[in-house]
Amino acid sequence: MTDASTRTSRLDAVIVGAGFAGMYALHKLRGLGLSVRAFEAGSGVGGTWYWNRYPGARCDVESLEYSYSFSDPLQQEWEWPERFSAQPDILKYANHVADRFDLRRDIQFNTRVKSAVFSRSSNLWTVQTDRGDVIEARFCIMASGNLSLPRVPDIQGIESYKGEWYHTGQWPKTPVDFTGKRVGVIGTGSSAIQLIPVVAEQAKHLTVFQRTANFSLPSGNEPLDPAFVRAFKQRYTEHRAEADRTPFGIAGHPPPTKFSREATPQEREQAYTARWGTGGNIAFLYAYKDLLVDKEANEIASDFVRRKIRETVKNQAVAEDLLPNDHYIGTKRLCLDLGYYETFNRDNVSLVNLRKAPIETITERGLRTTQAEHALDAIIFATGYDAMTGALLDIDIRVENGPSLRDKWAAGPTTYLGLLTAGFPNLLIITGPGSPSVKSNMIAAIEQHVDWIHDLLAHVKASGIARVEADPQSEQSWVSHVNDVANSTLYPLANSWYVGANIPGKPRVFMPYVAGLDKYRVICNDVAASGYRGLVMER
Ligand code: FAD
Ligand code: NAP
Repeated sequence: MTDASTRTSRLDAVIVGAGFAGMYALHKLRGLGLSVRAFEAGSGVGGTWYWNRYPGARCDVESLEYSYSFSDPLQQEWEWPERFSAQPDILKYANHVADRFDLRRDIQFNTRVKSAVFSRSSNLWTVQTDRGDVIEARFCIMASGNLSLPRVPDIQGIESYKGEWYHTGQWPKTPVDFTGKRVGVIGTGSSAIQLIPVVAEQAKHLTVFQRTANFSLPSGNEPLDPAFVRAFKQRYTEHRAEADRTPFGIAGHPPPTKFSREATPQEREQAYTARWGTGGNIAFLYAYKDLLVDKEANEIASDFVRRKIRETVKNQAVAEDLLPNDHYIGTKRLCLDLGYYETFNRDNVSLVNLRKAPIETITERGLRTTQAEHALDAIIFATGYDAMTGALLDIDIRVENGPSLRDKWAAGPTTYLGLLTAGFPNLLIITGPGSPSVKSNMIAAIEQHVDWIHDLLAHVKASGIARVEADPQSEQSWVSHVNDVANSTLYPLANSWYVGANIPGKPRVFMPYVAGLDKYRVICNDVAASGYRGLVMER
C-alpha cells in the first residue's frame, strides 16, 4: 500500500476523509484536472467500514444498493456475498475501489486535519494537520462523515476500571476474543443490536445495559443467489435510475398507495406480517403512506413489533423491558438484526434496565448500578456518535478575523442545501446537516452530493470565479424549509441523534432533511440549472 506522504503546500482542493464520500470526491475532482489530496485519520480507506470492525457489523441497506453506481464496470465486476454484507466484505470493496481508481497516491493516511482557516484576501484555505502539514487550497471539501466521531459517555470511574474496554466505532484491527469472559454492552442502538447476538455466542456471560429499548426487525440476511445477481446486474443501470427517483435512494420497494386508516385490521396485520423477516426497514415503513406522520397509524405498526418481541422472548419480564415505548417506530434508525431478541433466551445473557437501575459508576471490577455491581472482564460501549456535526466541529474551521464554525453553529447547524454554510466561502460539505444523508442509502446520497459539487466546481473553474458562498437569506429559507418538513412528521418527537439528544448540552435541532433524496435531488438540480440560485460568486 503506497501512501501519498510527500507534503504539497499548494492544492486546488483538500478533501477531509477517505470514506465513501472522500474517495468518490477525489475521483471526480481529479476528472476536472484539479490538484486534490485527501487527508485521512485512519491508516486505510473505507471510513465507517474501516473503524467499525465490531463483531456482527454489516450494512442495513442491501449490498447491491449500498455500493457505488458511478461506474458500470465496477458494479458489474464486484461480487457481494450476502444481501446485507458484513464489514470485512464492505471494507474489501472500499479497498478494491481505491486500487481500481488508483486513489491511494492522493490520500495521506494517518493524518488528522486539525484546522482550516480561510483568507478573504487570498481566497485560500490554510489547512493544518496533526503531522505538521500546512496546505493552502482554494477549496476545502468536508468528507469527514456524520457518524465518525465516536462518543464514550462521561460515566464516572472509567479511569479506575481494570478490565478491557472498547467502543464499537474504534474497534481494534485484531479480532477480540471474548471466550470465557464476562462482557457488558452499554447501549441498544443499531451497533449493539448487531453485536449482541455474536458476542453472546462467545462470552461466558453477557450483560446488556439498556437505557432505551429500540425497535428492530429481523433482517432476513442470506447468501446472494448467483442467478438472482446475474438477473439484477442485467438491469443494474435501470435499477439505479429507479433508485434515484425514490425517497431513500433504494429501488425495488413499491411506494405505499394507502393510508393505514383505509385498511381493515386484518389487512394491516397481513401487510406487517408479510414484511416481517423479509428484510429491509424500507419495506416495513412503506406499508402505509402515513406511518411516519400519523401517530395512530404508527402506533399500530409499533404494536405489531411489540407483539413479536413478546412472542420471541420467553421470559415475559425481560420481554416487557425490551418493549420500545418512548418513540414512534422509524423515528429513530429502525434496526435490522440477526437474532437479537432471541439472544435474550440464552442462559448466558441478562438484561439490565437502566431506567429502573441507572448506572452509578464504573468500578475497578465492572459497573455499578443503583441496584447491583456487575463484575465484568470487558465493557463494550455501543454508545454511538456525536452525529452530523461532531467531526466537522472537531476541526477548528474559521474565516480569518471572523467567527469559527463552532461559534456560528453554537445554537445548531445552519446550511444551504446541507452543502454550504454562509460566511464560509469555498467550503463544501458532503452529507452535512440539512441534507437527506442519514435518511437515505448513504452511498446514493454521497454520489448525488459529490456530483453536484463537481458540477459547481466545473462552473467556478470555467467562469473564473474565486469565491463561492451561500447567501445568508437563502440559507435561512433552507433551514426553515428543513424544519417545516421535519415538523410535518413524527421524526422530531424522538430523542434521537437526529436531534442531538444523545449528547448532553447539544442544541436540540432536527438535522436531516426528510423530504426524500428524490425531491432533494430535483431541488439541487434546479439550483444548478438556475445558475446557482442562493450562492454568491465573486471573480
Ligand atoms: P465516513 O465513512 O464516516 O468517513 C469519514 C472519514 O473521515 C473517516 O475515515 C474519518 O477517519 C475521516 N475523518 C474525519 N475527521 C477527520 C479529520 N479531521 N482529519 C482526517 N480524517 C478525518 N449507511 C447506510 O446508508 N447504510 C448502512 O447500512 C449503514 N451502516 C452503517 C453502519 C455503521 C456501524 C455506521 C457507524 C454507519 C452506517 N451507515 C450506513 C452510515 C455510514 O456512515 C455511511 O453509509 C457512509 O459509510 C459514510 O461515508 P462517509 O465517507 O461520508 O463518512
Ligand atoms: P446509537 O443509535 O446512538 O445508540 C447508542 C446507544 O447507546 C443507545 O441505546 C443509547 O441509549 C445508549 N447510550 C448512550 N449513552 C449512554 C449512557 N450514558 N448510558 C447508557 N446508555 C447510553 O449509536 P449506534 O448504535 O452506534 O448507531 C448510530 C447510527 O449508526 C445508527 O443509527 C445507524 O444510522 C448507523 N448504524 C447502522 C448500522 C447498520 O445496521 N448498518 C449499524 C450500526 C450503526 P439512549 O437511546 O437512551 O440514548
